[in-house]
This record gives sequence, C-alpha cells and structure tokens, in this order.
Amino acid sequence: MALSGIEIYKLLPKTNCKDCGVPTCMAFAMKLASGQAELSLCPHVSEESKAKLSHAAAPPIRTVTIGAGERTVKVGGETVQFRHEKTFYNPTGIALRVTDKEPDSLVEAKLNNFNRNVYERVGLKLKADLVLIDAESGNAEKFAALVQKVAGLTLAPLILRSENPEVLKAGLEKVANRKPLVGPATTENSKAMAEIAKSKGLPLIVHGKDLESLVALSSELQAAGLNDLVLDTGTRAIGKAFEEQVMIRRAVIAAQNKALGFPTITFPCLMTDDLLKEALYASVFIAKYAGIVTLSDVPGEVLFPLLLERMNIFTDPQRPMATSPGIYEINGPTADSPVLITTNFSLTYFIVSGEVENSKLPAWLIVFNTEGLSVVTAWAAGKFAADGIAAYVKKCGIDQKVSNQRLVIPGMVAGLSGELEEELAGWKIIIGPREAQHITPFLKELK
Ligand code: SF4
Repeated sequence: MALSGIEIYKLLPKTNCKDCGVPTCMAFAMKLASGQAELSLCPHVSEESKAKLSHAAAPPIRTVTIGAGERTVKVGGETVQFRHEKTFYNPTGIALRVTDKEPDSLVEAKLNNFNRNVYERVGLKLKADLVLIDAESGNAEKFAALVQKVAGLTLAPLILRSENPEVLKAGLEKVANRKPLVGPATTENSKAMAEIAKSKGLPLIVHGKDLESLVALSSELQAAGLNDLVLDTGTRAIGKAFEEQVMIRRAVIAAQNKALGFPTITFPCLMTDDLLKEALYASVFIAKYAGIVTLSDVPGEVLFPLLLERMNIFTDPQRPMATSPGIYEINGPTADSPVLITTNFSLTYFIVSGEVENSKLPAWLIVFNTEGLSVVTAWAAGKFAADGIAAYVKKCGIDQKVSNQRLVIPGMVAGLSGELEEELAGWKIIIGPREAQHITPFLKELK
C-alpha cells in the first residue's frame, strides 16, 4: 500500500541538505507521496530505507512490458481507481487482431491500416501498439506461417494466442526474441503454459471462466514464480465485461487483492460483428480499465477517436501539457523575419506553430514559460505579463538573431503593448490576431 508523506519522511535522513532540489526532507517526502519526485533524487537515503520505500512505491497493479528493444509497450502500473485522484500512467495498449483463418489479403490490408494510421498531436505520435495473432485454426503450421508473415510486416510488439501449448510453441519459435505476450493459460493447460512463459521469460495471459477461477489461476501461477501476468476474464458480453473491469480495479485498489493486481486484456473484437460498435466498446474499456483492447481492424475512423480518447485519459490532470520554452525557427527565418511570442501550453504552441508553418512565411516563435497555461489564463494569473515577457526577450538571445526588431503579441493580450513598448526599447510591438486561424493573412500583410 502507498505510504503517506509522514511515513516516507520518517525513512528519509532528515538533514534538510537540499541536494534533492527541494528545501526540506518533509517537502521531498510530500513530493514522493504525490508521485511528483523520484526517490533517486535523494543521494543520502540508506539502503534499508530505500528497500522499504521501493517496496511501498510498487504500484498495486503490476507493470507488464511486452516486446523487446525500442518497440515495447508497458501496460498496468496503475495506482488509483479514479484518474482525478492522481493520474493514470500507462495508456491502454491498442491491439489489432489477425487470425490464421483469415486470407492473406485481409491480413495484409489490416496490417497496412495498422502501419499507416499514425497521427501527430501536440508533439505526440499516436498509433495502435500491438498485433495479436490468434491461432483460430488450431493448426501449428498455419499459425507459425502467420506469425512469420506478421513479424515481417511490423516491428510492433506481438501477442500470440492459442490454448494449445504445441501450437503456441510453433508460433513462438519464429518470434521468441521479440518477447511477445503469450497464452492464454487456462485451468486445463496452465502447467504447460507456465513452462513456456517461464522458460522464455515471457508475459502470460491468464484466462478464467469467471472472476473466481481467474483469482485461483492467477494465484497458482504466481506461486509457480510467474509475475508478469495479463488477466482475461473470459467474458465476451460488453455489460458484464465492463462490470468485471471495474470490480477488478476496485478489488486491487480498495481491498489490495494481490491475485488481481495485473493489467487486463479485453476483446471488443469478439463482442460484436459491427466495427463501429466494436470501437464504442473499446472506448468504454479505455476509460475503465483495460490494459489492452483488441480490435478486428484499425481504419482511421475507428482508430483516431480512440487514440484521442486515450491521450486525454492518460494525461496527468494535475499537470498541463507544456512545451519547452525557447526560440523556435519556422520556415527558415532570417534577421528580417518577424518574432511572434506565445505561451508554452502545448495546445497553444502546436496550433500557433502549425499556423505559422502553414503560412509558408519565415518567422521566429518565442515560447514563453507560463507553466503550461494558455495565453488568456496565463495573463489572468499574472504569468504572461509585460515585465516577465520583456525580461525573457532580453535574455533569450533573440536580439542577436534579428535586425528588424518586431515582436508580435497575441491579440488576446493587446493591452500589454504599451507596457512592452516601454520595457523593450528598440522593439516595435505589433498586436497579432486574436485567433490562430488568422495568422496566415496577418503574416502576409506584415511582410
Ligand atoms: Fe532530505 Fe535527501 Fe533532500 Fe537532503 S537530499 S533534503 S536528505 S530528502
């Protein structure tokens, strides 16, 4: 169970040396308790305390890594029931399911969607994460051939699924070095599946007939030394499957049920034949509380809304998304190009920089640190004020880059222009558009 700030404080050296960058051990303890600092920042903590704190800091839902090398996906690692209590950490993995009963052309078309549909939003690359290969035919050769084919079409982490250990082994031979998630282990095959997972060091899916059997099986596998488990409740009806996801999370967080302290895998693709319904079901599981959702296909109209939903749910509600402050060059600016200024709220930055880029006109963009607040909010909070902006413009080095000193401020804070003219001698302060969509015509006129 997570320790409180006071409990953590008791384990710290209590010297208030500030080496961790925080004024006191108590303040550092509070930051640790709220997940805003890492224990490694205190170089003086004893080994004994370190062991106690690391154990206490382990999330109640184990983090399971699927894949090897750069293309890995982490699922689980969650610590709360509700996002607003802290944050959710590891975004639900979105998996494309293909089966060895599907024709090659269909598998290729699905993998094409999987590889092609990658989106960039606020500096993040959004895409589906995993490919689940299902041995639907029960034929080892067919399954192995499909695994090999898929492995050649994507470097994404894989999930190999067959209840028959021999069939699973045949597929695994082709990709064991890619550390796929394998399974499922069931009441009938658990010993053989445990052996496969253990011998290759792979995470294992545990499939229960119901929650009770899932608890029993998970406990049995843990006793056998398997720690990287992914839970499948076996339910393929949306209402009951949703209830189970909530019950599992509650059992782990509120009742510290160790047998259920693992990420889950859900199968919207096996709950309906309607792809849009499938997407709807997946959206329910992304919100609550699947580690992985599997989809039968990932065309843009299905994938993109799910990626956006996932991005919103898995951002920290207590920390605005922020871009690094600094000077950004857009479209190859010269000494004569105008200088625009905006805040470091990611959404604001990406909209403004995107519009300047689209204008095809060269410009400098100063991103001012407002701790992730948007222009109007930062201005209202006194974090986007003339004195601060002027001080930053003077010290950031922009005056060495431009000879024609023109600073364009957002139209929303036009009221700052007078004060800025006074603070920034030699600069011409220009009031820019109120809305980013008007940046292109504005820059054309300014030219
Ligand atoms: Fe306390 Fe460690 Fe921070 Fe020093 S570095 S103030 S001992 S928590």
